[in-house]
Amino acid sequence: MVDIKSKTPDELAVWLKEQGEPAFRAKQIFKWLYRGVTSFEEMTDLSKSLRQKLFETAFLTPPTAVRKQVSQLDGTIKYLWELADGNCVESVLMRYQHGNTVCISCQVGCRMGCAFCASTIAGKVRDLTPAEMIDQVLFTQIDSETPISNIVLMGIGEPLDNFDTVLRFLTLVNHPDGLKIGMRHISLSTCGLVEQIDKLAQYGLQLTLSVSLHAPDDETRSRIMPVNRSVGVEQLMETCRRYFETTGRRVSYEYAMIDGVNDADWQADLLAKRLKGAPAHVNLIPLNEVEESPLKPSRRVAAFQKRLESHGVTVTVRRKLGGDIDASCGQLRRKAIKESQ
Ligand code: SAH
Repeated sequence: MVDIKSKTPDELAVWLKEQGEPAFRAKQIFKWLYRGVTSFEEMTDLSKSLRQKLFETAFLTPPTAVRKQVSQLDGTIKYLWELADGNCVESVLMRYQHGNTVCISCQVGCRMGCAFCASTIAGKVRDLTPAEMIDQVLFTQIDSETPISNIVLMGIGEPLDNFDTVLRFLTLVNHPDGLKIGMRHISLSTCGLVEQIDKLAQYGLQLTLSVSLHAPDDETRSRIMPVNRSVGVEQLMETCRRYFETTGRRVSYEYAMIDGVNDADWQADLLAKRLKGAPAHVNLIPLNEVEESPLKPSRRVAAFQKRLESHGVTVTVRRKLGGDIDASCGQLRRKAIKESQ
């Protein structure tokens, strides 16, 4: 059985040819898939016999929205999707001035172990498929009746730990017969897997690479992000500089502000020093409190921002959306798991 929605149109054409069908059917089928059909029966301009053949040889994995929370404050919508095997992941639709953005997941759970993150508490269950990533964008768009122009890979999971799938997802979501979302409208967030960052650079994609830095010194970063214990901040920053040199794309750094952990002036000074040598952008994130974690939000966000700016660093503070619907990723899935136990 074939996961037909994870195939590119070219692969679909080859596969159809092997089934004795003309290659042009690939385009027809691809278009149907991106209209959000959930069965082959709905592909009404295909012959009955081809629809039957698809039914016998291929499958679709449309997710079901098992929970949907709409923020009364700003219209942010959070979806908990149940996948074909019963696992759940989250997506969040956010309405920004620059366009409607969906934040999607790439794995069920996560194995990176960051101390402040709800997604990693029970580890990784499995990788998502390209189709399961596409469907989060597509069905968010269909259900919310909101045209989506931007995508951030900042939901549950580590994108570079599911590298081939994410790359395939990018090809699919970018395709003119599909969702047609341009690379410059996509951000990929990583905890900093250096080998995979180097590998990604080779593709020269015009997406924005966001690196979750969260601390400029090894002692702090290793404490809150286990990934730092094998590769330190210095090597990560070198890799990011290389990424910029290869792709010409400015790297963005995420920095979740944690009370008494990473919000001291000396850390702002060190961060500014580390960023020298390549254009960069720092996004300070007010920490979302996670029930299972003792870490608290910093009260020094504005002071930290000012200190960075005094060194000439470009800084923004992430606006909090969906404050009334616990919209930070991983929290809704945690809640659903706990309630089912
Ligand atoms: N694995 C990827 C993407 C997923 S998380 C990564 O590490 O970048 C998306 C962003 O949200 C990351 O910067 C992550 O560190 C941050 N994040 C996770 N939990 C958070 C919390 N409780 N409060 C604020 N930001 C958080």
